[in-house]
Amino acid sequence: MSRVPSPVMAFTAGAIQGTDGARGIVDHRLARRMLINEVRRGRVPMDTVCDAHPELIRAARNVGTETQTECPICEEVNLRLITYVFGHGIGPQGRCVSTAKEMRSLNARPEDLNAYVVEACTECRWHHLLRVLPVGGRGRTRARPRS
Ligand SMILES: [Zn+2]
Repeated sequence: MSRVPSPVMAFTAGAIQGTDGARGIVDHRLARRMLINEVRRGRVPMDTVCDAHPELIRAARNVGTETQTECPICEEVNLRLITYVFGHGIGPQGRCVSTAKEMRSLNARPEDLNAYVVEACTECRWHHLLRVLPVGGRGRTRARPRS
């Protein structure tokens, strides 16, 4: 038997920079802008923000959607977007969603899931969480007040 390494084994929601576990649409653009400014000013070392998980970079390369936005850190290549879905029944490593069809089927699930839209640079390994969107949870009130 040949050894087949599990490709997604070590990738969890915690590997995504900026993850805070909040449910609902969370926009991280402001935090992103501030972080980029800090890196440019030299207050945050590049290697602390350009440390994307190898699995994230692999996904970005293979199934990521290329954007028209140049990487703010290395300015070498355009950023790519990857969407991961985490939640009950998905497994701790999440699922990398690469097609609209797959996203529709996840959205039809009764469980509350979260989609994490992450940008990543395949050149310098910059990565940042852009948005967290609720997925699934059909038949339940979306706008539950959070205590
Ligand atoms: Zn870069």
